[in-house]
Amino acid sequence: METKLKQLCKYLRGHPDIEIFENEPMSRHTTFKIGGPAEVFCSLKTSNVVEKAVCKAKELGIEPFIIGNGSNLLVDDEGISGVVFEISNDLHTINGDYIVASAGKSLAKLSNVAKRSGLSGMEFACGIPGTLGGAIFMNAGAYDGEMSRIVESVTFINERGMLMTLSNESLDFGYRTSCFKKKPGCVILEAKLKLTPCDVDLIEAKMADFTLRRVDKQPIGIPSAGSVFKRPRGHFTGELIEKSGLKGFSIGGAQVSEKHAGFIVNTGNATCADVKNLISHIKETVFKNFGVELECEVQFAPNKN
Ligand SMILES: Cc1cc2nc3c(=O)[nH]c(=O)nc-3n(C[C@H](O)[C@H](O)[C@H](O)COP(=O)(O)OP(=O)(O)OC[C@H]3O[C@@H](n4cnc5c(N)ncnc54)[C@H](O)[C@@H]3O)c2cc1C
Repeated sequence: METKLKQLCKYLRGHPDIEIFENEPMSRHTTFKIGGPAEVFCSLKTSNVVEKAVCKAKELGIEPFIIGNGSNLLVDDEGISGVVFEISNDLHTINGDYIVASAGKSLAKLSNVAKRSGLSGMEFACGIPGTLGGAIFMNAGAYDGEMSRIVESVTFINERGMLMTLSNESLDFGYRTSCFKKKPGCVILEAKLKLTPCDVDLIEAKMADFTLRRVDKQPIGIPSAGSVFKRPRGHFTGELIEKSGLKGFSIGGAQVSEKHAGFIVNTGNATCADVKNLISHIKETVFKNFGVELECEVQFAPNKN
């Protein structure tokens, strides 16, 4: 008998806005450049096909693993069983001070769209290498901003396959969290952002300043997933790791960045096991030295079962 996964592939195959790959290395879809094969990997390029694919999967009892740009993701060396849906719908419309954009839209591109339209509020996001959907899931933030301050509402498919829209107050945003993180099974389709009219040159200057600060402090261009740990109350993670003598420390191909100790970088051939071992070592050492428990910001894809 045909498996449910085969039935799903048969249903999705041949659609012009869906690309399907079998045994697709996840290292091609994460900024860490780490991760074994996904049994089935589907790139969904419009909101229509995201809806169609997610609802069919749910109808068949399959829970897809959702990714945006894979920039906050650690995938096991064994890979992922079942199906991965990459959300790559990429549209936006501007209406007055509002931008409505699909979840697969790159944050960097969207920040530039906002700038060109003389809309301020997205400058903080110009160097975050994720999608809008991933940024809402994580409530991504930097410098003086975070997603919770600009999101007016989010449209998503809920865990039962129903299309819903919730406004900001109902999204339960907190430090690097949202209702989507707390309640798995939802897929973000699009969001409405509320921005503020501003002089384009001022927006541009702010973005240039943030970009300079990033290039100065972060290991840009070396594979990583950004800050591995959340900022513990009253401390800076990078400082705790550096003061523990771990800057530059490595296990296999995973290294505590020489430039920013809050980042783990893949020096070329790191495995997921290397990164996980390094994370454990950092957590133990920082706890021993400072009594501070570090919590991971990076998300772990489900293990192969
Ligand atoms: C060099 C570098 C710098 C970074 N700087 C910052 C920073 O300054 N601030 C910051 O907050 N983060 C930063 N990050 C981390 C990362 O870019 C953000 O967390 C980003 O928002 C993740 O978006 P993504 O599309 O890559 O999500 P992914 O990594 O693909 O996914 C992250 C999580 O979101 C879920 N998800 C993704 N899309 C959807 C969707 N449409 N519906 C439902 N769930 C979804 C996934 O299942 C996963 O659990 C940085 C990363 C790198 C590599």
